[in-house]
Amino acid sequence: MFVILLGPPGAGKGTQARLLAESLGVPRISTGDLFREEMASGSALGRSVAAYMDAGQFVPDETTIALLQRRLRAADARDGHVLDGFPRTVRQAEELDRILARRGQHLDRVIDLNVDTEALVERLAGRSMCPSCQTTYHDRIAPPRRQGLCDRCGATLVRRVDDQPETVRTRLRMYHENTEPLITYYDEAGVLSIIDGGQPPEGVTRDMFAALGMTKGSF
Ligand code: ADP
Ligand code: ADP
Ligand code: ZN
Repeated sequence: MFVILLGPPGAGKGTQARLLAESLGVPRISTGDLFREEMASGSALGRSVAAYMDAGQFVPDETTIALLQRRLRAADARDGHVLDGFPRTVRQAEELDRILARRGQHLDRVIDLNVDTEALVERLAGRSMCPSCQTTYHDRIAPPRRQGLCDRCGATLVRRVDDQPETVRTRLRMYHENTEPLITYYDEAGVLSIIDGGQPPEGVTRDMFAALGMTKGSF
């Protein structure tokens, strides 16, 4: 199954994409995580994207599409994926359609997580993440069992540089101007489901599975 999770920064894409990918047995592919891994490894690509990422600006389409294309060629992504944070522009969406079409495949569904701006700002202000396995936490809503340490791997949690309020504003504007048009794009393609991302995580998960025609018994 080929699925995209769409939504503004802080909508819960990462949280939900992880659960969905595990249930489907397909990889979760986050371009944000891939870029952060490149930055952490100190690669030329990582150095070239750092300034965009830290400022909350988009990495240029050519770079982002090339990275995604490379990831989609891996064996584990042949029969399905859950994309988290890609596409973010109409150009990226068109390119993804072409990549899949060349392989005789197509998107099954795009899930848009709808959350109001105030809640997004609060979520991002409280977000911490594991630099090792990329699991995300929230100080109040989803705290780790031991303060400051990842439940899954024990690493020390960090705050993302781009989760500072000033940068969050830039990211929300970037989303509004460049990514929101994808809602219409996918609606016209007949693959869009909009769900209420403002509810507690379990409710979002339930609605997401329902939109994919999956019920509790099937995962
Ligand atoms: P969020 O959790 O806010 O949705 P991500 O981790 O997905 O953020 O992305 C972090 C940053 O990585 C973005 O602000 C942007 O700089 C860069 N990035 C990730 N995906 C893309 C993309 N598809 N196009 C352009 N830039 C991207
Ligand atoms: P995205 O990948 O869309 O940027 P995340 O999954 O990283 O979003 O979630 C952003 C923050 O909000 C995290 O701190 C996460 O723990 C928290 N969060 C995720 N889903 C919910 C929810 N349904 N209600 C409240 N907080 C949530
Ligand atoms: Zn971890």
